[in-house]
Amino acid sequence: MKTLRIKPEYLNDIKRGYSLVSRDAVPNRDILEVEGELFEITDAHNKFIGKGYYGNQNKGIGWILSTKEDEAIDQEFFTTKINTALRHRKHFFDNTDTTAFRVFNGEGDGIGGLTIDYFDGYFMISWYSEGMYSFRDNIIAALDRLTTYKAIYEKKRFDTKGMYLEQEDDFVKGEPGVFPIIIKENGMNFAVDLNDGAMTGIFLDQRDVRELIRNEYAKDANVLNTFSYTGAFSVAAVLGGARNTTSVDLAKRSLPKTIEQFSVNAIDFESQDIKVMDVFDYFKYAQRKEMKFDLVVLDPPSFARSKKMTFSSAKDYTKLLADAIKITEKNGIIVASTNNASFGMKKFKTFIDKAFKDANIKYKIVEDLGLPKDFHNNRDFPEFNYLKVCFIKKLK
Ligand code: SAH
Repeated sequence: MKTLRIKPEYLNDIKRGYSLVSRDAVPNRDILEVEGELFEITDAHNKFIGKGYYGNQNKGIGWILSTKEDEAIDQEFFTTKINTALRHRKHFFDNTDTTAFRVFNGEGDGIGGLTIDYFDGYFMISWYSEGMYSFRDNIIAALDRLTTYKAIYEKKRFDTKGMYLEQEDDFVKGEPGVFPIIIKENGMNFAVDLNDGAMTGIFLDQRDVRELIRNEYAKDANVLNTFSYTGAFSVAAVLGGARNTTSVDLAKRSLPKTIEQFSVNAIDFESQDIKVMDVFDYFKYAQRKEMKFDLVVLDPPSFARSKKMTFSSAKDYTKLLADAIKITEKNGIIVASTNNASFGMKKFKTFIDKAFKDANIKYKIVEDLGLPKDFHNNRDFPEFNYLKVCFIKKLK
């Protein structure tokens, strides 16, 4: 096994459980040749620190898998990790109101670069590097041994930016599904397709936000859902008693997909507004018409490029909020969400504070949420708890 020597300033984090091996931490990283090969990490005195695998991702060159010198990285290792993760989700498997959740969350469950989601009998594995993908047989063998399932699907997310690699078919084994399947989440229905490119129709990490909108914030509200994708927040709002919803997304496929999500919940989609357009154009339109909403959901991607502009949540979130504030009713709520891992909750709140100060409007953050319980992560390192959602009440 090759040995990587870690720079002293990185040692402390690793001892505290940080398992990503960043590019800068190991100066002799060039000795690594084949993704998936195992390496040992030592300190400057040649003392064993951990062992891991080589796999290039956007932030690092691999992950530490074990800090025990005598632990082998073999089939038993992978089976044990997955078994532990499954046992931690036992109450999810037992709950018939929610049939889709994350069963394995990368480094939070001990194997960085790997996630496994469960959708009512189907497993979906995401591989985040070529290196992780080299353990494919081990992971599938572990699922075979530990679970029963209808089928396994996979997503290869390993171009350098963690983007999805298009492939003909994401099916791995089992009895192929007839999609969409309908999964349940806190009693709501969602149509899911595991064999239709990068996305499945629902982002499981927003489960708690959907529930909160439905249970606490939607009643009688006029709701604007921006960057709405398949309209999952709009569905939650209607089921929570919203007066009206408007879903806005640039992607053409968002229209049929949103109609589908309403329909599988027995909601008349014709009574709701679905707009295929640029959110920033919609803001201009709404301002011109002096429209006001009681609840505005902002859930932009970390980066987006449209014909007219590029949006980066790290740079432009304050501007996005400024637009939203203008069309939110007094005492209305803005749900501001971001999944950008490059900044934490504290910084996110400074974006919020600046937007309201600039507008000279008082506000109160009435809820803040991170990842739900099934998305295990090490709370000491906020970058792994990438999701940040604030419910902001617009005061006067
Ligand atoms: N809120 C959604 C997920 C949003 S994913 C949910 O909870 O399910 C991000 C979405 O933003 C994508 O569907 C993409 O098409 C859309 N998008 C990106 N840039 C946009 C823009 N400028 N205007 C409108 N939609 C945009």
